[in-house]
Amino acid sequence: MIDYLGLEADLGEEERMVRDTAREFVENEVAPDVGQHWIDGTFPMDLITEMGELGFYAPNLDGYGLPGLSETAYGLLMQELEAGDSGLRSMASVQGALVMYPIHAYGSDAQKAEWLPALGGGERVGCFGLTEPEHGSDPAAMETTAERDADGYVLNGSKTWITNAPISDLALVWAKDTSADGDPVRGFLVETDRDGVTTNEIDEKLSLRASITGEISLQNARVPAENVLPGVEGMKGPLSCLTQARYGIAWGTVGAAMDCFETALEYATDREQFGKPIAGFQLQQEKLAEMATQISLGQLLAHRLAELKERGDLRPEQVSMAKRNNARMAREQSRVAREMLGGNGITADYSPMRHLTNLETVYTYEGTDDIHSLIIGHDLTGIPAFE
Ligand code: FAD
Repeated sequence: MIDYLGLEADLGEEERMVRDTAREFVENEVAPDVGQHWIDGTFPMDLITEMGELGFYAPNLDGYGLPGLSETAYGLLMQELEAGDSGLRSMASVQGALVMYPIHAYGSDAQKAEWLPALGGGERVGCFGLTEPEHGSDPAAMETTAERDADGYVLNGSKTWITNAPISDLALVWAKDTSADGDPVRGFLVETDRDGVTTNEIDEKLSLRASITGEISLQNARVPAENVLPGVEGMKGPLSCLTQARYGIAWGTVGAAMDCFETALEYATDREQFGKPIAGFQLQQEKLAEMATQISLGQLLAHRLAELKERGDLRPEQVSMAKRNNARMAREQSRVAREMLGGNGITADYSPMRHLTNLETVYTYEGTDDIHSLIIGHDLTGIPAFE
């Protein structure tokens, strides 16, 4: 796939291997029927354990059977999965960055031992419940509560737009602990088969269709005290997970754009109008040149983030910049690719329209484009536009 600036030359052997394994997996196991899954609104469930066996969930973490790969290898994995479909990358992001990462970073030894190997192997599925019906961009205003009782907590509230909720064994639910001073937000590991927990699927999405999304309803759902993540309190908990997932999105969106570029280039080279391939017309070449340039800039951003993350210098605001830019770039370039395919471009036989509609979600979740603008604006000016 497109590597105009020769970034391949800087990759280590392990990074190439991860990238190639994921690319082959997408080519052989995903590409043949992802269009049909997208049309049907289903996720290829058989791939969940296969992705676990291939080590696609949180391979940048270590211990508990996790290999501790480089941040570049992890990024390349996200790139390749999203070249397949944003739903596939979302599966790996949620499981790895939003469920395994917080258990790894903030969990007790018992929580880690119980969940990390099972989630890492894809034997169990997890979801991340932060967004609520009335609180999306402003999750700190959440209404879900955890009330202390004798030896546990009783949870009440509802979460919505939760990727994987209906197929999850475990929900990491962020709720306000009403028993502590200031009602701090805490993370609760809620097994979805507990009494008082229901998950309904959200039907009729017109974006990210090859991904299962749902609600989590908590009605006097009781969990033992040992199910709270002991190592974090306050919004730092969920926000630090989002930084991890946004890092993966900064890479993944580039993958979606790369797949659109390859599709458009091949189509324009094959498709003849006015007696020659449309790739021979200046207007089409300008589109390809711009697409290649924007993708290359997105790749540079992603690679730079990896360097900063690897040496522990990455700031959340830098991740915001990359998530915002690369999601926006992929959204715009997928539209150009779609356009270059003419009428065929609106079908599921080709990937650009599927990517294009998926990217509406990616542009919106994990902090909307607007919210990331404000995070960067705050960082630049020192003046918060929202609290
Ligand atoms: P709102 O916050 O209501 O925003 C509406 C519009 O107002 C947006 O354009 C926004 O940019 C703008 N806006 C809001 N505040 C401001 C402001 N201060 N200044 C300027 N403009 C503003 N959440 C989870 O917790 N877990 C998941 O797994 C998950 N998966 C998702 C999967 C899908 C398919 C989708 C669509 C969403 C998912 N989400 C998930 C939720 C997602 O993170 C939210 O949709 C997102 O944060 C935006 O919240 P909202 O939809 O409530 O929009």
